[in-house]
Amino acid sequence: MGKIQKILVANRGEIAIRIFRACTELKIRTVAIYSAEDSGSFHRYKADEAYLVGKGKKPIDAYLDIEGIIAIAKDCGADAIHPGYGFLSENVEFARRCEEEGIIFIGPRSTHLDMFGDKVKAREQAVKADLPVIPGSGGPVSSLEDVQTFGEQNGYPIIIKAALGGGGRGMRVVRAADETAEAFDRARSEAKAAFGSAEVYVEKFLDKPKHIEVQILADTYGNVVHLYERDCSVQRRHQKVVEIAPSITISDELRAEICEAAVRLMKNAGYINAGTVEFLVDGDNFYFIEVNPRIQVEHTITEMVTGIDIVHSQIYIAEGRSLSDPETGIPAQKSIPLFGYAIQSRVTTEDPLNNFMPDTGKLMVYRSGGGFGVRLDAGNGFQGAVITPHYDSLLVKVSTWGMTFKEAAAKMERNLQEFRIRGIKTNIPFLENVVKHPDFLSGKYNTAFIDETPDLFI
Ligand code: ADP
Repeated sequence: MGKIQKILVANRGEIAIRIFRACTELKIRTVAIYSAEDSGSFHRYKADEAYLVGKGKKPIDAYLDIEGIIAIAKDCGADAIHPGYGFLSENVEFARRCEEEGIIFIGPRSTHLDMFGDKVKAREQAVKADLPVIPGSGGPVSSLEDVQTFGEQNGYPIIIKAALGGGGRGMRVVRAADETAEAFDRARSEAKAAFGSAEVYVEKFLDKPKHIEVQILADTYGNVVHLYERDCSVQRRHQKVVEIAPSITISDELRAEICEAAVRLMKNAGYINAGTVEFLVDGDNFYFIEVNPRIQVEHTITEMVTGIDIVHSQIYIAEGRSLSDPETGIPAQKSIPLFGYAIQSRVTTEDPLNNFMPDTGKLMVYRSGGGFGVRLDAGNGFQGAVITPHYDSLLVKVSTWGMTFKEAAAKMERNLQEFRIRGIKTNIPFLENVVKHPDFLSGKYNTAFIDETPDLFI
């Protein structure tokens, strides 16, 4: 394979910039693509070259223009494409087209995307590798009777999930038998509209679990390591808001067991590149929920506690290097450090006092925090930037590190306080309430924390 010379990032915003930075550090030339709506977007100017993509297409569709992106990559001589997260990152067809064109897709093989993009198939893979799964239908459910039978046999609440769902969407919790008919219909039509397939399956809905996920790196020679876990239980509508690494509540024994299970699954699947294995944890029990076969938004905090640059690692792996190649700087599993604690807050342009309604317009003032142990990953985070309604509302990721969890949380609170943003509403006041809340600080939170804590909204 050899050294990659030029990488096109098929994405926008903070993650495109994050990847460009990694490429520049590795002396790799960078290529941005941008939609017409993003012609003033910061990621365009952070790359060595930039090309308009998806002319005449809708704003989101521009970044989903598989043939348009491949054509740009070929024309400009990019030897690899990094898909970031979202958009085409889990698109089997896109990875396959890259493979066909001899362009390196910085991620797993298209076969892995196929295996893990579908949660029903992923679950089967987990069962094969002997991982505990939540009691569920075991396969797609096609009739209302099947859902009701499952509910009667396992007891309510249950959750109906889209097989191809993601990003917290395509899920419906059903608390009683008489809600099943409507929920089943809605789940199927939402799944069809959002993910192009009405296929759904059913699981028992766990009462207030923690969401714990394990970061994995795997090379093309079958070597797999984990970079410990993140606790992403602080969620709103099944979407992560604040993440922590490592978890402050699981025991060392449970940590070892979960990390070992994640490695076993990925080894068994012959997985390649960076990926995350997600679990729900209920007391001392843990259950597989899904694999994200890509870089994740919250990878920053794992980097802070292990010192390993995950995007560099992705590129090294894509170049065909072994994890044990000294140039990668990745230590052997037993020597991978776990040093202190890190927290990430997702600052969004949403109004927490108005049901998190996205706000748009011009950032009249933008000043961020800083200092020891602080990392900022921004997209259009600068004075004068125009926030449009076309894309997701993530403005900047604030990550803080401390020797203790309390220290990391105090740094987060102080940093959020230091932000001065005018012209656009953000969720910063809400995030401040989360990171100083006694239940957050003592680890007494779970996936229901935001829903059940009204004092976060004042
Ligand atoms: P997505 O792919 O949309 O992120 P996941 O399957 O990863 O969906 O689930 C996202 C979140 O939804 C979980 O972190 C958890 O809070 C909640 N969830 C999913 N399945 C269950 C379940 N069976 N019981 C309780 N909560 C669940």
